[in-house]
Amino acid sequence: MRYNRRKFIKNTVSGTIGITCTSILQSFARERNLRNNKTLVKKAVAILEDGCSLAIPYWMIDSGKRGPSLVLIAAQHGNEVQGAEVARRFQKLCSEQLIAGKVWLIPMANLPAIRKRRHSFDLGPEENNRLNPHKLHNMQRHWPGNPEGNDTGRIAWSLYQSIFRHCSHVVDLHCWEHVKAAETLVYYDHEPSRIMGDVTTTRFISSSPVPEVKSNTLMLRRLMVEKGNGAITIELSGQYQIQELQVQTGLSSMINIAKRLGMIQGEPELSGKHIERRSDNSHEVVASCSGIFMPGFSEEKGRILVPEDNVIKGQMLGHIINEIDLKKEIVHAPVNGYLWQFGVCHWALCDASLPAQHPYVEAGGRLALIITVEDDFH
Ligand SMILES: [Zn+2]
Repeated sequence: MRYNRRKFIKNTVSGTIGITCTSILQSFARERNLRNNKTLVKKAVAILEDGCSLAIPYWMIDSGKRGPSLVLIAAQHGNEVQGAEVARRFQKLCSEQLIAGKVWLIPMANLPAIRKRRHSFDLGPEENNRLNPHKLHNMQRHWPGNPEGNDTGRIAWSLYQSIFRHCSHVVDLHCWEHVKAAETLVYYDHEPSRIMGDVTTTRFISSSPVPEVKSNTLMLRRLMVEKGNGAITIELSGQYQIQELQVQTGLSSMINIAKRLGMIQGEPELSGKHIERRSDNSHEVVASCSGIFMPGFSEEKGRILVPEDNVIKGQMLGHIINEIDLKKEIVHAPVNGYLWQFGVCHWALCDASLPAQHPYVEAGGRLALIITVEDDFH
């Protein structure tokens, strides 16, 4: 009885606040010419192998006008979580500014892996996808899913049936290790995808031709292209974390794509040109000796260097304390360019294991990858 009374008071109070806030927002929307598109929270329900059901929630915003159906899917890999906040902010923006088409936002696609706080839910401590011999629960290997497959395939199937089969454009948001800068991945020979890739705000882009289909199950981006839809992947920088700068990169990319597709008013806003990463403009910087690596300081920025920073030929990238004679071995930038990778990441495991982040490097180990820019190349 007491519980119910408290609950009643709580609901009444919050209900009143809700009404007040809603009316403020509505008048704010009218003043700023903003729309008030309804956001629905819907669920894709998978029936798992043990007969239990699992619901993956998503937002759906409908402008009420004809237009593209744009999907953002985040956290197909459970340790790649930055896109969840991108989806949340984009949902709010679309509720006010979407003028054509529909938007579908899946902030936590692979809920079992997120609950395990790992890339895939069958991985153990200090394991990443590369160490997983069978990759049975790597969601990217399962599209369009299988209602009689393993649990990950069943979740993919429910998402495909509820969302992807209705959509025209897809952004597949991932995160790679924190030593790598954010990058857009695009098929350059597929026009509907290329126009999406053109307007993302990652500094780097990497283009490849549409690969041949060799299996019944595909990566989501490849499957969407097979169906004639536009699709790109964005890799933000850093797993197991959410960084404001990365969220802003994801959000501004989504806004630009929606503008490019005529779903939000205005022209895409770009602060500069993408830097295309290719093998012929990638310069690896390796350790000249074994020892402890100390990253370099950027006087200009007042902090240590990080991925995305520009560097000039001869600039100090850091130093190694040599394990043999304790001499300080300076590491210089061999070219002008931008840091695509910076810092040690042993065995490609630096976001899954502390030893993999250890600053001890062996002679010949990679410390950085610099991408040169043609206009700037001397
Ligand atoms: Zn991923």
